[in-house]
Amino acid sequence: MLPLLLTYLVDIIKRQRMIILALMKLVILLTQNSRMPQLTAPDNLNYQKLKVDELPLIEKVEKLDYHLLLQTHFEKTGKVLQPIQRRNGVKINLDLNTTCPRCNAPSDYLYANNGPKGQCNCKVCDALFSPKNHFSKAAILKCPHCTHPLEKVKDRNGFDVYKCKRADCPYYLRRLQGLTAEEKDLFEKQPHQFKMHYLFRQFNIVFEPISKDSIIQPKVNLANIHCSPYTLGLILTYHVNYGLSARKTAALMYDVHNVKITGQTILNYASSTSVILKPFLENYPYELSDQFCGDETYIRVSGRWNYLFFFFDAVNKIILSNYVSPNRDTESAIYALREVFKKMPQIPEDLIFIVDGNPIYLLAQHYYAQHGIPFDVKQVIGLTNNDPVSKEYRPLKQIIERLNRTFKGNYRATTGFGSQQGSVSFVTLFCVYFNFLRPHAALEKKVPVLIPELDKMPNMPGKWTKLISLSQDWLMDQTP
Ligand SMILES: [Zn+2]
Ligand SMILES: [Zn+2]
Repeated sequence: MLPLLLTYLVDIIKRQRMIILALMKLVILLTQNSRMPQLTAPDNLNYQKLKVDELPLIEKVEKLDYHLLLQTHFEKTGKVLQPIQRRNGVKINLDLNTTCPRCNAPSDYLYANNGPKGQCNCKVCDALFSPKNHFSKAAILKCPHCTHPLEKVKDRNGFDVYKCKRADCPYYLRRLQGLTAEEKDLFEKQPHQFKMHYLFRQFNIVFEPISKDSIIQPKVNLANIHCSPYTLGLILTYHVNYGLSARKTAALMYDVHNVKITGQTILNYASSTSVILKPFLENYPYELSDQFCGDETYIRVSGRWNYLFFFFDAVNKIILSNYVSPNRDTESAIYALREVFKKMPQIPEDLIFIVDGNPIYLLAQHYYAQHGIPFDVKQVIGLTNNDPVSKEYRPLKQIIERLNRTFKGNYRATTGFGSQQGSVSFVTLFCVYFNFLRPHAALEKKVPVLIPELDKMPNMPGKWTKLISLSQDWLMDQTP
């Protein structure tokens, strides 16, 4: 009897084991084929090509006037400075429309020096310049290692690439020396696999002076909301504070409060409220520190994955930027940072941004440095404190990772957004909640931005209602 039972039980165990193995295989297949974007850890990227070099030397061109210079020459020497005599029939390598970037002298005064790639030399002011280098009109970009002018080598969509081509540049020589014998072999066969020269990417994003955007009066009228302000407050509390989906919020409103409302109506209300609250969130006079951290997370918009860039005051726990973009690129990083700068009355001197190892932040840093907004970028790379920077700034980076988790917790129930507008609405409401309504453990259970009027309200729905009315009052005050 007993042996029979044992065989029977062993048989069951064997079958169960097979089922478990089959299920595990399925889980692995599902994760492998998931279309969820995998944020590649920057330490896995091919740094050979992705290394971001330091800023070039930017020499602002001192503006001279060739008329005045010719005049001075005449007064000093008693002779008229003659245009360059060019022998007939000799082809010169110079576009006749070229003018000197420094003194504006016409091509008659320009020596075309060293063949097709060569520089020009101005006879009037002695400036050396490369006629192909468009940027040279305003400034000359020079290699920080050998101080020779950089050459524009690529016209990419959105940015130009400048390169120091000198074979005697210390940067190039150092790279060459650093190659192993194997790498040297490969380099001779496939030089394009290697980044050997100093490179600079110039982004062609129009730099808008950092100032607050003019307030656009929202077109939404809250009179379209057919429920009492308190009910609206309740809806927002469930939907945003507790991260319940619109459908669950609707069910809760009926089951608990006897209010009949559809999930779609809740989404519409969320959208209208976010439009009213967005200008308030963006123009509030925040008190800021000089340490900020940034991170990206992803959200689903109309069936596609988008990146959400958060920037956050690491000390005061205030969200300053929430930029949604289909791409995780330098342009997005530049726009996300712009949202932070817009909230600063002036740019602090020791401004620091703590981010991950993604090179887009270094490129964004270069972009802003070029436009007179210098700041320091500390990259916390990987999961271990391998380098002193990571060790020092990891706690700050962890703060924003926590913010990301909080956001994901609240966002998960929404199961993605049907439209860009829907995602912006939810992200806006989340940020309003985070900055003004959510007590923070690290701030002794206080909210990051304390508004006394809100503090007086007895409960959360009341606080939401008050916030909406403060925002409306504020908007009214902005109308001239
Ligand atoms: Zn000149
Ligand atoms: Zn160089």
